[in-house]
Amino acid sequence: MTYIVNDSCIKCFYQDCIIVCPVDCFYVGENMVVIHPDECIDCGVCEPECPVNAIVPDTRLKPDEMHWIDFNHKWSEAWPNIVHKGKVPDDASDWDNVPDKMKYFSEEPGDPGDD
Ligand code: SF4
Repeated sequence: MTYIVNDSCIKCFYQDCIIVCPVDCFYVGENMVVIHPDECIDCGVCEPECPVNAIVPDTRLKPDEMHWIDFNHKWSEAWPNIVHKGKVPDDASDWDNVPDKMKYFSEEPGDPGDD
């Protein structure tokens, strides 16, 4: 079991989840974060921290949402680990509840800041 981040995170990028993760298993892209499924210990503390409900346990994924596990695995292998909350985009709240945000997804790695 693991938790995953879905496209609701894109461009909102509040990063409140990063602070609470006990095993530092978040990885950062240019405009979202993902969870490494092999490192997540399923504690669930990050889920309520996300203001846009982008974090979901895999046990609650519908059949057509299971691809989020591979998505989180792929990009957590490609992007840097992040343990400190970085800058939240100035327009983050404009993107709350915007549906189907994959068209705004960036493959570029993000800035993990100082650690
Ligand atoms: Fe980290 Fe726990 Fe969230 Fe997994 S469920 S990403 S271990 S805070």
